[in-house]
Amino acid sequence: MSLNSHLSLALQKKTNKIISLKKSLTAQEELLILLYTAAFFSCIYCYKSRFVYFDYIYHFFTHQKNIFLTPSVLDLTVLTVAAISLLLISYLSDKLSSTKEQYNKLRLDIIHTIEGEFCYHPQRCSCKDNYISEMDKYSIDMVFK
Ligand SMILES: [Zn+2]
Repeated sequence: MSLNSHLSLALQKKTNKIISLKKSLTAQEELLILLYTAAFFSCIYCYKSRFVYFDYIYHFFTHQKNIFLTPSVLDLTVLTVAAISLLLISYLSDKLSSTKEQYNKLRLDIIHTIEGEFCYHPQRCSCKDNYISEMDKYSIDMVFK
């Protein structure tokens, strides 16, 4: 049975929206885990090499011409990865919390909607139970508020 059969148009649209929000939430959470991992390892590298970085900074600002000290490609790459991943974590955390808020609002709205009239069947039917089970497949809880 299709998820959208016997649903009102409004509920079909809300269902499609919440499924897309759930997919977006999952993708954002996976990306955040990846970014946290990148930030963690690059920050550890930067911390362990902090004196090398201090030397670069010191020689950059003192313009000591007699000492030729340029950062290695690895040091620059790791520093860039650390900076970018920290920036992206900050941006994505905000986006994730706004998506979560949208998702929870819509989930509560759908729960409220399905508590009332769910389908057009005159007799007792299993449409609501089927809907809840279908949503469980997407890991969307439609029972608990
Ligand atoms: Zn029904």
